[in-house]
Amino acid sequence: MTAAVHHVPEGDVREDATLAGRTIKGLYIDGAWQQASDGGTTTVRCPADGTEVAVVVSSTAEDAERAISSARSAFDGGPWRRMTDLERGAVMLRVAELLERDKAIYARAEALDTGKRLVEAEYDMDDIAACFRYYGKIAGLDAGRVIDTGRPNAISRVVYEPIGVCALIAPWNYPLLQAAWKVAPALVTGNSFVLKPSELTPSTSILLMETLAEAGVPAGVANLVTGTGSKVGGPLSADPRVDLVSLTGSLRTGQTIMAAAAETVKRVAFELGGKNPNVIFADADWDAAVDNALTAVFLHSGQVCSAGARLVVEETIAERFVAEVVERAQKIRMGGPFDADAETGPLISAKQRDGVHAYVQAGIAEGAELLCGGYIPEEGPLANGFFYPPTVLANCRSGMSVVQEESFGPVLTVETFRDEAEAIAIANDTEFGLAGAVWTSDASKAQRVAGALRHGTVWINDYHPYVPQAEWGGFGKSGIGRELGRAGLDEYREAKHIWQNLSPAPSGWFGAI
Ligand code: NAD
Repeated sequence: MTAAVHHVPEGDVREDATLAGRTIKGLYIDGAWQQASDGGTTTVRCPADGTEVAVVVSSTAEDAERAISSARSAFDGGPWRRMTDLERGAVMLRVAELLERDKAIYARAEALDTGKRLVEAEYDMDDIAACFRYYGKIAGLDAGRVIDTGRPNAISRVVYEPIGVCALIAPWNYPLLQAAWKVAPALVTGNSFVLKPSELTPSTSILLMETLAEAGVPAGVANLVTGTGSKVGGPLSADPRVDLVSLTGSLRTGQTIMAAAAETVKRVAFELGGKNPNVIFADADWDAAVDNALTAVFLHSGQVCSAGARLVVEETIAERFVAEVVERAQKIRMGGPFDADAETGPLISAKQRDGVHAYVQAGIAEGAELLCGGYIPEEGPLANGFFYPPTVLANCRSGMSVVQEESFGPVLTVETFRDEAEAIAIANDTEFGLAGAVWTSDASKAQRVAGALRHGTVWINDYHPYVPQAEWGGFGKSGIGRELGRAGLDEYREAKHIWQNLSPAPSGWFGAI
């Protein structure tokens, strides 16, 4: 469990990722790189070992306002929204091609910013290209509909229009993927936007601005503001010139944005937290269930909104199942993005790691039993980064903070059940309802339980796969709206009903004329 961090970026990431030409980038307004109004910059460091990745602009509220002005002018007077769906779709297909061409550069920048393994960043880039390709391909397929009014002299149709200026706010765990789920549908429907990546992981969003321009997105349509949520979040969520705020982030940030957006009744679209149950029945395929229980929660060191962080396992097999999970969890090798032996990486920051550790300690204080992990590595190469070992807590119950609150780290809690009804009750006992899984060889039981779970995605005998054609989002406090799929388009457009009377005549409602 103590693999060395062997962090050797090939070449200088600043040359080909974020600082090409030695211009400090990050603030992209009206098709040009700009500097912050107060000249502020910030250094991005790799969380695996503190290596400097890039120096980027730290924007101010004034910068955010300038970016909003750019997006507003491009929307109100520019060509993008007047292009046809098919024309915009063609640009999205070109973006997908360019992302594939530049995959190595993107993946390396993402791996350095997040500390995740290079191979995982490469998978992410494939998914991002697939997202742009999907929205490029469905452009124009659902452009509106004609309504049968039953009246021969009336034409009624529903058309879709872009919402306008969108503030797109992304987190650090899948920085470009979460941004792409917003950028692609926002663009293909004709909106303009201001993207704000996490201040911890801006590099691939910077690269994206250049890719979008190369693909043919006109100046002013795509704008980027790098900086902290506290500095630029205000204008993005309160400025009356912004029509929609789409956030992927924490519940607390969603609540702050919703309150700020209320004044101008902005549309909000939220992908927030998850506290996801992985339900294992005794008749499940043993090896597959054990193996996927590990992937469910320890992938990307648990920094996944849909992480299967709650193991809900049938009592009769619980002891043996958990023992096997623990045995394998202890063998997971941690390391940096370029460490060929590593199976998982660090947490994003010291704050995140310390928060996860405090969460584990609170669980133990509430009566959970620590079976493995649960410490901060203090020596060897792992001490140079923000690593936290895979951790398993047994004897957990629904009321505990470790079961209810999202740790966003590599922490698995174990609860047991006696029958199907109890399994469903435990799985649904959460304020968040993002995702969950059920493992059983009984197809009827699988369908019954999947039907009963109040979660936006349910996997049966699997964990984590998704496709851009299928909606993603949560019940309850997991969010508002859906990304991906057809519903992902609807977030970025307004439906308009147009009725035309071909034979105008007095209505006669208030008597004869
Ligand atoms: P966060 O809420 O701290 O930050 C998310 C983004 O919001 C960042 O860009 C941040 O700078 C910005 N922000 C912070 N305060 C703001 C404010 N007042 N106004 C405007 N913007 C502000 O979340 P995070 O720590 O970056 O990401 C982790 C969270 O994201 C977890 O809760 C996780 O579950 C969630 N997440 C959800 C999904 C999903 O699909 N549901 C996917 C990934 C992550």
